[in-house]
Parts: sequence; structure tokens; C-alpha cells
Amino acid sequence: MSESLRIPRRVRHELKFRTLSVVSVEDLTPTYRRIVLTGDDLEGFVSPGFDDHVKVFPPRPGEAPVMPTLGPDGPVFPEPRPAARDYTPRAYDPATRRLTLDFVTGHGGPATEWAMTAAPGVQLGVSGPRGSTLVPTAFADHVLIGDETALPAIARGGWRNCPPRPAPRWSSP
Ligand SMILES: Cc1cc2nc3c(=O)[nH]c(=O)nc-3n(C[C@H](O)[C@H](O)[C@H](O)COP(=O)(O)OP(=O)(O)OC[C@H]3O[C@@H](n4cnc5c(N)ncnc54)[C@H](O)[C@@H]3O)c2cc1C
Repeated sequence: MSESLRIPRRVRHELKFRTLSVVSVEDLTPTYRRIVLTGDDLEGFVSPGFDDHVKVFPPRPGEAPVMPTLGPDGPVFPEPRPAARDYTPRAYDPATRRLTLDFVTGHGGPATEWAMTAAPGVQLGVSGPRGSTLVPTAFADHVLIGDETALPAIARGGWRNCPPRPAPRWSSP
């Protein structure tokens, strides 16, 4: 394989702060909730890297999302500073402007609490991705390590085309 095909490439994206609305909520397991969001603000959304992440700004129940604004030197945060958490875009369909995020739940925290009460029409602030690392996948072998919060990135990697092989056995001296 050409050496250039093995080198990750970093690309930048225009930073935008988007107010989105929930379209649907689906519990894939008791602690894994898939939420589909939409909104005109998704115009221009891109996520070319399988391990991209957006920042979500989960509002308190019944409140509108509070997000930074974009100043000349980057994001300007209001006080009190809103909670922001990282999530991987599980899927994005530009034709329907639908962004899918998967939330691991079962612990406390603003993002998981928002996800637990999310219903169609409820809003979420979302910014980014600011950039993507385009990681080559054209290798004969891959070692994937992650907890369930990494499943969106792992699922996007196209590994399904790679037949699983048993892990090598290690023996101690
Ligand atoms: C690049 C990146 C991408 C990510 N993508 C996703 C994604 O697609 N889906 C997803 O669900 N998460 C994802 N995460 C993880 C997510 O950002 C964190 O789990 C985040 O802390 C959740 O925020 P919260 O408001 O629910 O909880 P927090 O307020 O951050 O934490 C509250 C309490 O819960 C604990 N806690 C937080 N997360 C977990 C967890 N997963 N399991 C058990 N205890 C936890 C904390 O230690 C703390 O004690 C990603 C993280 C990164 C860095």
C-alpha cells in the first residue's frame, strides 16, 4: 500500500451553532437511546470522519438551548457557562437534514438527563464538528477498543467489510 494512504489527514470545518429539534427517540437498549434531530440550521453540516464529534448544549427541561456566539477570536460563552458535552454524529442525511446521535444513559449529567426527557419537538443546541481527522481504513488488520460511547464511531468505520479474526494469544514468559 502507498505510504500516503496510511497517513491520517486533518480537515477543518466552519464552526456553526445550531438549534435543532427532536424528530424521534428510540431506545435500542435500556441504556442506549437513539435520537434523531432536524432543523434548517443543519444547512452545510458535514461529518466526513467516522470519529468526528459535535458539542451538544443540553438545555434544562422546558428551556431553550443556551450556546456561545461566534466572536472574532472564536466562541464567546455566556455566564453562567452552559453545559457542553461531546457526541459522535452516528449518521447524517443531508437530503432530509436529519442528524442521528446515540446517547448512552444510566448515569446522571446534563446530556444524559436531556436525552432521558427528549421527545419530538424538544430542542438541543449543537455545534461542530470543527474539524475531522480522516483516518485511513485500508489496513489488513484493525484493533478497535472502546466502551459503548465509542459505538457510534466504531459503527461508522466501515469495519463490517473486514472479517473478524480471533485475537492473537499472548503467553507470559
Ligand atoms: C470525542 C467524543 C465522542 C463521544 N461520543 C459519544 C456518543 O456518541 N455517545 C455517548 O453516549 N457518549 C459519547 N461520548 C461521551 C460523552 O461525552 C460523556 O459520556 C459525557 O460525559 C456525558 O455527559 P453527561 O452530561 O451525560 O454526564 P456528565 O455530567 O459528563 O457526568 C456525570 C457523571 O456521570 C459519569 N459519566 C459520564 N459519562 C458516563 C458514561 N458513559 N458511563 C458511565 N458514567 C458516565 C461522570 O463520570 C460523572 O460522574 C463521547 C466523548 C468524546 C470525548
